[in-house]
Amino acid sequence: MAIQILPPQLANQIAAGEVVERPASVVKELVENSLDAGATRIQIDIEQGGASLIRVRDNGFGIPKTELALALARHATSKILCLEDLEAILSLGFRGEALASISSVSRFTLTSRTAEQSEAWQVYAQGRDMETTIQPASHPVGTTVEVANLFFNTPARRKFLRTDKTEFAHIDEVIRRIALAKPHVTFSLSHNNKLIRQYKNANNAEQQLKRIAAICGNDFIQNALHIDWKHEELYLSGWVALPQFTRPQNDLAYSYVNGRMVRDKVITHAIRQAYNEYLHTEQYPAFVLFLELNPNDVDVNVHPTKHEVRFHQSRLIHDFIYQGIVNALQTDDLPLEPSHSS
Ligand code: ADP
Ligand code: MG
Repeated sequence: MAIQILPPQLANQIAAGEVVERPASVVKELVENSLDAGATRIQIDIEQGGASLIRVRDNGFGIPKTELALALARHATSKILCLEDLEAILSLGFRGEALASISSVSRFTLTSRTAEQSEAWQVYAQGRDMETTIQPASHPVGTTVEVANLFFNTPARRKFLRTDKTEFAHIDEVIRRIALAKPHVTFSLSHNNKLIRQYKNANNAEQQLKRIAAICGNDFIQNALHIDWKHEELYLSGWVALPQFTRPQNDLAYSYVNGRMVRDKVITHAIRQAYNEYLHTEQYPAFVLFLELNPNDVDVNVHPTKHEVRFHQSRLIHDFIYQGIVNALQTDDLPLEPSHSS
């Protein structure tokens, strides 16, 4: 076969294979877009585990009519212009791939209105040749994205969808992770028209603690030490559980870098080591930790899903986190259970 350039839809579907694994990955991308647009209220409606419908509605700054079609194009982004921007990224998105990928494997509708526009506009695409149609619509300032019949044109992917319950559980977890990191944003999540979660925006430390408790459980917060640890441009905050509040599974382990949830070996190892003398091998520490650092010192463009990062000075980061936690564990003033040292 002669070399040919792939038609856009096929190229997008191939890219979708990396970013859109299941309904929960669509939800993640859409909610991150809402956050990047400065939304303070985000409503997520799911039907049948996301297989039939995923709708994300926000009150962010919207997309101007002239840019609607472009928003669905591949490598189209408003978030970076040049390599310098990429190296100092603070937005959650930057690859300009999510909407192109998602719209290539679903029946996709985006409705948006900016504050400057008196009316909203809607763009529709359904997998075809990425042709789009634009028409007037009714919508307050902000954006609603509807993703219907995910994978309708990629049966091989559709076959991998699990039960509605399982897919919804993944979506629920995505929203928990994001809600932990964005306390000032209100999130609501419904499944088959039933409200399942409501995280009201937290305006002070007490309300923020309530959100953490709603997501991680009261017993986590009652057994957690607050972390507030700084060194030059590094800042670590959040909560780590007392050593006696250990988990048989690694299921309460949330770490963020500049507001983005990540799974990182350096961070995980530093935490594990800080707990080293307290934990048996089959026990796991529970934590919600936020690391802030100069975006120039970390590479987030490691993988399309952006779950991984690379620190330029990983040793420094490791020791900083380790010290912060050890310090908290040693100086805690909460009543420790007597004679519980291992
Ligand atoms: P990326 O987020 O990497 O830029 P996306 O494909 O997710 O790429 O989105 C493409 C562009 O569409 C974004 O850069 C942004 O300008 C616009 N956009 C997408 N979702 C929203 C939203 N909810 N509100 C405002 N603008 C949005
Ligand atoms: Mg995006």
